[in-house]
Parts: sequence; C-alpha cells; structure tokens
Amino acid sequence: MVTQFSFFPTPYPDEILHSVLCRYHACCGTPAFVSTTKVLWGQKANINPYLPQALGRIAQRIPAETGLTAYYFAMHNTIYPLLKPLIPEERGQRVLRLLESGQQEDELAILLSGFATSKGPRWQFFRYCEDCWRDDIRNYGEPYWHRLHLLPGVLVCPIHGKSIQNSRAYLKDVSTNYDLASFALASNETAPRYSDNAADMLGKLAGDAAWVMQHGETLPSSERMHELFDQLLQFKGFRSGARTKGKELHAALIWYYGQEILAALQAVPDDLAPWSQLVVQKKKRLLYPIYYLLLMRFLAGSAEGFYTEKHGLIYSNGNDACYSVRNDAVKATQKSVEPLEYREIFLQAIQDNPDCSRGFLIKYYPKVYCWLRANDTDWYEANAPASKMYDPADWTTRDEETLQKAINAVNYLRNLPGRPTWITRRSVEKYGGIELYQSLADGKLPKTKAYLDVAIENNEEWGKRKIQWAVKSMVDGGERLLLQQIRKRASISHKYFEFLIPFTLNCIEEMQK
Ligand SMILES: [Zn+2]
Repeated sequence: MVTQFSFFPTPYPDEILHSVLCRYHACCGTPAFVSTTKVLWGQKANINPYLPQALGRIAQRIPAETGLTAYYFAMHNTIYPLLKPLIPEERGQRVLRLLESGQQEDELAILLSGFATSKGPRWQFFRYCEDCWRDDIRNYGEPYWHRLHLLPGVLVCPIHGKSIQNSRAYLKDVSTNYDLASFALASNETAPRYSDNAADMLGKLAGDAAWVMQHGETLPSSERMHELFDQLLQFKGFRSGARTKGKELHAALIWYYGQEILAALQAVPDDLAPWSQLVVQKKKRLLYPIYYLLLMRFLAGSAEGFYTEKHGLIYSNGNDACYSVRNDAVKATQKSVEPLEYREIFLQAIQDNPDCSRGFLIKYYPKVYCWLRANDTDWYEANAPASKMYDPADWTTRDEETLQKAINAVNYLRNLPGRPTWITRRSVEKYGGIELYQSLADGKLPKTKAYLDVAIENNEEWGKRKIQWAVKSMVDGGERLLLQQIRKRASISHKYFEFLIPFTLNCIEEMQK
C-alpha cells in the first residue's frame, strides 16, 4: 500500500515536471534536497528536465480524481509530445512506457528517444521569458519554468516576441537542487538581440515547436512525417523519383531563412553534411528537433500547415484525394511546359516581383528553377536576380570561407575512424558542403587552391595511408603482419603494391619498435 502525498501542486500550463517538484519542495519548507528526492522518487532517481521517467511512482500517490496520471505528466510536463512525432512509432511507445513506469528502469528514456545524443546545441541554464513570468505572476501568483522555453532552438517567445533569456540556475543542477523559478535567479547578462525579421521568424519557429508539443499526443509518428516530407519535396521539385536534390534543397533553405536565423539556431550550412540532407536520409534517428521544424515551415508554411493541410502532389499516382494547390505561382509551374516556356515563366515571375530574390523564385517556382538550373544554366545565371549569397566582388571572403570548409573537411576525413577515405576534390566537396570545380578552374579561390594542392592525396599518398592503417589495424587485432595480408587489407592491386613494398616494410618496422 503506497502512502498518498498529503498535498501535491497542480501543474501550470506547459510547466516542466521539475518545476512542479521545485514548488512541492518549497511548500514542504525546503528540506534537504535528498530528503525531498527520496520522498518523491525513492532510492533510485533519474532526473533530467526534459524526459523525467518513472512518473508512475509519483502519480500513484496522487488521488485519481485529480486526473494527474503518469500519462498526463508525460504529455503535459515533459517534452515527450514534441519528440513523439519525430521518432518511429515503436520507439515512441517504448519511451512512453519508460516515462509512465512506476519504477526506475535501467533503460533511460532520454537515451532511447535519441534526444540525449542528437547533435545540436544544448542549454546550460534554465531559461525564461520575462513577460511570460510577469503573466504567470498575474495569473498564478508565481512564475515557473516553462517547457517551451527550455527547448534547444527556441530563442524567442512566440507569445511576447521577446528573446528568451538564460537564468542563473544550471540545468545540470536538477540532480542536486530544487531551483524555484524566480526573478532572484534572473541573469544580469543582456538578452540576445536579433533583427526584426529574424526575431519574427524565430518567434514563428518557437510557435511551431509549441504547436507540435501541444498536439504531439495525437500527431502521427515519424513514419508519416517522412512520407509528408517526401510528398512535399516531390511537389516542390526538390526530388525526382527516390533522389532528393540535396544541394538545391539546402541552397533554397539558406535563401528562405537567411544566415542570421540559421546561425542563431546553429543550423549553419558549413556543417560537414548539411542538416537538411540528414533529415531526409536518417529516418530512424532523432536529430536536433529544430531541423524538422525548419523543413516543415519551409515546405508547408508552418508545422500546423504541414500536418493539417492537404498538400498538392505533382507526381501523384492519381489515387490520392488531396490536390489542393498552395498558390497560383505553384499552379503555373504544374502545367506541362515546353522548355522555352520555362524562360518565359521565369522572366514573367521576375517582372511580377521586381525586388524578388533568387530564394523567392526557388520557393515559388521550384520546377522552373530546377529545370533552368539543370538545362539552361548560362541563361539562368544571366537572367536570375543577382546572387546575394556571394557578391561577385567578394571572392576574397568566399575564398577564406571555402578554405576553412576545405580544411574542416580534410581534417574530418583524416580523422575518420576505421577504413580511411581517399581525400580527393570530390570527397572534400562532399564533406565540406562546397562546390569547387568552376571557381578553382577560374582561379577565383587562390588560397583554397593552394591548400588543396597539398592536401589532396595522389595515388601514392593514398596507397601509403591505406597501408599505414592496414598495418596498425592488424597490429591492434594481434594479426601476423604478412605482406600479402596487408595488401589485401589495404585493398591495393598486386601491381601497384610492388611499388609500395619498401614503404610497407618501413611501416612494419616502425610498428614493431
Ligand atoms: Zn513570453
């Protein structure tokens, strides 16, 4: 028979569970951290602000008529509803079971969900919106920690349009402190400032996160999200058949959001593999949640639009009932068009929207854009609005940027664990997210070129690196170092290996020193 709590605070809207527990702790007269924790969780507690598990342990000691069940806590006081639509159904259910469980299982929900390991920025402190706190005080007599404000990538309050600020309470202190939300914990650092446009968009993205969190309980899991991504990418011309046009997509995303927003969200394009590519390809893995929201808004106008609107399908097999089309511009690109007409549509679009950017045209005329890019590149370059991405006069800056990306890519390739990857111009382009060919040939990137001349491996250098790796991995594995075995491991042809035998013998000697 479990003893009921003599009282338990009612959670406020969007309050994280830890905040409820902080209020409980305060109402108990702020005893030592361990004693409250023991009362709440027993001997074994796994506490984290995002996905606290074993909620059943707390819920079972609250009268049923309050409606505060483990399921209720999971849906309203953890970030589970945000993650549920982003992960496969089966995994989502397992995570929910861990959250609802009446005891601390060994498996950790935060790891199983993929949230703990998803690559992306993390907050160090509890965060808050000043105006939300003032509203809380007005409505409830006290401020509290909001779930939304803690989400990585939520930078601006969608209600007040203000930057969300760091407090002075460390997030990792949830396992040692009950830091009650209060202005006493407000930080004296100034809140980050964004341009009006960026603040507006960051607020909208935060609104998307809030919407998903509010509706996550009933939203389908990631399998459906990927189907919708596939359909919309097809519809917008970023996919033909099974192939996603990754470069065009990423360029279009950069145009759509602009550097300031992507930099603020740390969704910067100089990542080794563009995040948009990861979202489309890594269907089982949970990535930094903001990536999904960025793609949803780009493709469907908002997260809500993504899930609730019917999306037009260019390449539908005819069985799908939804053909609603977003706007006339898109409609224009849907008709079957003769090649020359693409030029006309494009010119007309520029005439209709005199100040438009390339990004605008990519967004509203994706098919025309893709066709011209692929088949009529010179004409496109001559007639499209000037690229704002790289001012032609600014090749020096571009050279510096490209050089840095190339260095990052080469370092990345050199340090990849396991079988080595050949450092070629192609692999540097691929892992650096850059396109070098024409600019190198035109002599526009002298520093990058000088660096690559040295860094790119010729056949011999490549063969030698493979041999070094093969010898080391055989030594590590306790294998005998026979020349032919080394050759095989390094996958080098007999003929070419002849030439590298002296080098191989040196390697063996080095290893055996
Ligand atoms: Zn606010």
